[in-house]
Amino acid sequence: MLQITCPWCGPRNETEFSFGGESHIIRPVRPESISDRDWSDYQFLRENPKGTHYERWQHRFGCRQWINVARDTLSHEIYSVYPMGDPKPVFDRKEALL
Ligand SMILES: [Zn+2]
Repeated sequence: MLQITCPWCGPRNETEFSFGGESHIIRPVRPESISDRDWSDYQFLRENPKGTHYERWQHRFGCRQWINVARDTLSHEIYSVYPMGDPKPVFDRKEALL
């Protein structure tokens, strides 16, 4: 089980959170000007990496805030928890923040 440190509530069990999918997905500025294929890719294509993954989680049974979590999909190690709107941190595979 993951233990996620909510920036507002502190360390909590994964069961208090809801997974919200991949983070840092940018909606096309003018969706009417892109192809159906590009729109479909925006809607449905997501990363499924073996390694660092950036995810959105909601502290559903706590403060109800949405947060970003950067974690390793192999080891489940959490590299960083940061508020929505913060820039995507860059990591060297399994090492510390670059
Ligand atoms: Zn919280």
